[in-house]
Amino acid sequence: MEIRTRFAPSPTGYMHIGNLRTALYEYLIAKSKGGKFILRIEDTDQERYVEGAVDIIYNTLKMTGLKHDEGPDIGGDYGPYIQSERQGMYMKYAQELIEKGQAYYCFCTKERLDSLKESNCDGVAFAHYDRHCLGLSDQEIKANLESGIPYVVRQKMPKEGSTTFDDVVYGSISVENSELDDQILIKSDGMPTYNFANVVDDHLMNITHVVRGSEYLSSTPKYNLLYDAFGWNAPSYVHLPPVMKDAQHKLSKRNGDASFEDLIAKGYLVDAVMNYIALLGWSPSDNTEIFSLEELQQKFTISGLSKSPSIFDIVKLTWMNSEYIKAMDFDKYFALVQPKLDEALKNKSLDFKKIAALLQKRLETLNDVAGLVDFFDQLPEYETDLYVHKKMKTTVEIALDSLKACLPVLEALPVWEETAIHDSMMALVVEKGIKNGQMLWPLRTALSGKPTSPGGAIELADILGREETINRIKKGIELLEA
Ligand code: GLU
Repeated sequence: MEIRTRFAPSPTGYMHIGNLRTALYEYLIAKSKGGKFILRIEDTDQERYVEGAVDIIYNTLKMTGLKHDEGPDIGGDYGPYIQSERQGMYMKYAQELIEKGQAYYCFCTKERLDSLKESNCDGVAFAHYDRHCLGLSDQEIKANLESGIPYVVRQKMPKEGSTTFDDVVYGSISVENSELDDQILIKSDGMPTYNFANVVDDHLMNITHVVRGSEYLSSTPKYNLLYDAFGWNAPSYVHLPPVMKDAQHKLSKRNGDASFEDLIAKGYLVDAVMNYIALLGWSPSDNTEIFSLEELQQKFTISGLSKSPSIFDIVKLTWMNSEYIKAMDFDKYFALVQPKLDEALKNKSLDFKKIAALLQKRLETLNDVAGLVDFFDQLPEYETDLYVHKKMKTTVEIALDSLKACLPVLEALPVWEETAIHDSMMALVVEKGIKNGQMLWPLRTALSGKPTSPGGAIELADILGREETINRIKKGIELLEA
């Protein structure tokens, strides 16, 4: 049987990390077995609808490479793939259940339902519906419908026994039927509830594996009862534990935690984020950690999913991001870094490729660029103690001596080019009988004005050019002599 999974986001805004992880696992469950990955937009809750949210969904799938096989934008044999466009389909199924005695019309007013909550309170703001409308006669129902009284359709739950289902991740889950509320299937505006639409749609779209957050675990028995009532086969359920911010709190955009878009804006690479989130709840049989999407597809097995919640660790993601940056093909990397350099540096005559090459091993995120390259534009103010470095065996006196010695050599260098600069400095080190660091540390300091810099003295001199290099050495000498 062909595996069919679906990503069924509600268009409510940003892309939550947990939702993206769900999409990734859905994609992998299907693709690791040559199946189909379907996109379905669940927009039946019009109050939560956010303008532009559907585009975020499309863009994210495109950026991450989670290419769907069917969906609103590309069609497929089981459309429409937007729930609001399927609105006309659901009532027929609700009526089928009414005829089978598995659902019923409910004409209760909001006031009546609110009063039920109050009287049932016990400190819990939720009450089971008291089945007031289950007792209506056929004539009463007919009269109510004819006079246009607003209604909902409710599922009639069994009151005895229990309902059990097997979840791929959580194992066997049972609930007492007496705990189940007669949930609403069709709302008074004619729209189905999520609880009804997801069952009808998953069935009609031939979904074999329903993958979603564990917050849906407790509702799943109700969905299974719907499948049974229709006489349909229920899909395999794969519920995923939440992604946590720490041991107690779920990761939540509402509480200021990063969404996928935020991470990209903070300079994380799409591939690194996807690799990292793949491991938030799944582990491979070997202990490898770095995978491309294709490799994940090959290695993924459903048995590697875990039911313990994982903590989103930004430090680990940052490490992974720097590994991705280091391993990137230079041209691909440069295409990402160039705009950041362009934004950070006023001096456009600098060789951005050379600067980018120096940065590649040092960047943790793409947003680190600005803070690392600022000194190329302008030498910052700095103090003479920067020249003093224990390991390099430099003192203020040695630094001054080295800068004074290299100035004429560099001024007289016939060509300004990295090897020539290097060779001349090494010859000078030998001539003066000093250690490399005693020449190069002062030079690097004079050129950067910073305690650390991407690249050493020779690379910085090469990039800054002769004139700027000479000026900065002169400034260093002035400072050390003062
Ligand atoms: N629309 C639901 C959500 O965004 C999807 C749940 C499901 O996958 O069934 O949470």
